[in-house]
Amino acid sequence: MARMLCKCGHTLSTVATPNDIELHVYTDREMDAIIAMDTMDPLDIPDPEREVWRCPQCERVYVFKGNKVVKTYVLESDDE
Ligand SMILES: [Zn+2]
Repeated sequence: MARMLCKCGHTLSTVATPNDIELHVYTDREMDAIIAMDTMDPLDIPDPEREVWRCPQCERVYVFKGNKVVKTYVLESDDE
């Protein structure tokens, strides 16, 4: 995935690097394994298991499996 339209209408793109769309999400256990690798080369760090994007406009979070969105998280309203 490099570009998609958010449900709010905002175009999300990770074509430019760095960008403010893609988040690198690791579990604490995965982070521990990365630290244990004791590497200074960022290219040695494995990609996260899932690609995660956040829309800067509505703050929806999309979780990908391969090129497909498998989960969408949307902010709850606290106005009640
Ligand atoms: Zn959005």
